[in-house]
Amino acid sequence: MGTLAIKIKKQAEKAILQGHPWVFESSIVKISKEGKTGDVAIIFDSRRNQVMAIGLYDANSPIRIRILHVGGPAKLDSSYFKSIFDTAKSRRHTLLSTDTSAYRLIYGENDGLSGLIIDIYNDTAVVKLYSGVWYSHLGTLIDLLVQDHKVNTVVLRLNRLLQTQDSVYKDGDTIYGELQDEEVTFKEHGLFFKANLIKGHKTGYFLDHRHNRLKVRHLSKHKEVLDIFSYAGGFSVNAIAGGAKKVISLDISAQALEIARANVALNFKKAHHVIMVADAFDGMKQLSNENKKFDLIIVDPPSFAKSESQITGAIRSYKKLIRAAVPLLRQKGILLMASCSSRIQAEDYFLLVKEELVLMKKKFVVHQTSTHDADHPEGIPELSYLKSIYLEIE
Ligand code: SAH
Repeated sequence: MGTLAIKIKKQAEKAILQGHPWVFESSIVKISKEGKTGDVAIIFDSRRNQVMAIGLYDANSPIRIRILHVGGPAKLDSSYFKSIFDTAKSRRHTLLSTDTSAYRLIYGENDGLSGLIIDIYNDTAVVKLYSGVWYSHLGTLIDLLVQDHKVNTVVLRLNRLLQTQDSVYKDGDTIYGELQDEEVTFKEHGLFFKANLIKGHKTGYFLDHRHNRLKVRHLSKHKEVLDIFSYAGGFSVNAIAGGAKKVISLDISAQALEIARANVALNFKKAHHVIMVADAFDGMKQLSNENKKFDLIIVDPPSFAKSESQITGAIRSYKKLIRAAVPLLRQKGILLMASCSSRIQAEDYFLLVKEELVLMKKKFVVHQTSTHDADHPEGIPELSYLKSIYLEIE
């Protein structure tokens, strides 16, 4: 790993000082030598020629520098990373004092480590990289996880871009210890869940929704619940735990619903749980044809807008979902509408949901809105994606 002295455009300096951790290739004005991925980038300010920030250089990405530290020099050694890990852990203290054994320890930029995610499932850590700058630091990260965070196995996951680049590492490699089974069983607020750390979505499970699942548990007593886009049944299992009379998990993936069924069985000897393999719209139509009604409907679709050009289509899809779901609700039923489209801001999303209900001439009360759970801190607004709104509809 080398060290690079770098100067960047004034505009980029300003962005960094405001807390934005990315420097694009086009913002670099001067560099002391050709950089290699993983090199330490020392950024000198244009006015006084003093160290203003430290980052890691990525030769293979338009995000050329991932800023880790702003304001004077810093040494990116083991104690530097240890203090970041310690801060991140204490930020999650309240969550970690519950009966929960899977959590996000490091949430990239929001915890000060751009391009790096670390999720813990019991004693296994899943390190997910969004940039090759981290390859040369893996040894240090593993040591910290093992010494301070009760980890004995580390699995590496790579984002799509890294999977296409030449490297000694492959997606799904076990880089420390031994992964006995790629399926792990962990606890979330006292309930058991299984996740596949290699084949599952994200690092295996949607940890970001944990608080909403707990809320659904508290809302479900004696209710008939429809969980649309249920994936591994996170909301469904919580609804059953909360005393739901009946729960339907609807998803297009038969494989996901098998995991949902297994997750229900892990927790309950007996439950009135039905799985429905269908496209969300087809499934809702079928339920409507059968005159089925529910007291609580959860709609948690995959991301519809990952880029600017998809926003209009995404808004249309959300509106269609609302139009299909609301008629399935009983009087004063509750609709939980979630969105993980990063390109649609929370306030805009809440507004579009409410506007659609107004257009449908429905009376409603907003019970609550929420964003990510506590292990997904929101330091950088552009990186926020999850929002949920709970509506009671007359
Ligand atoms: N609610 C889940 C996460 C949902 S992820 C949780 O709390 O963990 C999105 C899910 O939507 C995936 O399981 C995917 O299989 C499903 N899906 C995608 N397109 C779909 C469609 N057209 N109809 C129904 N389900 C769909």
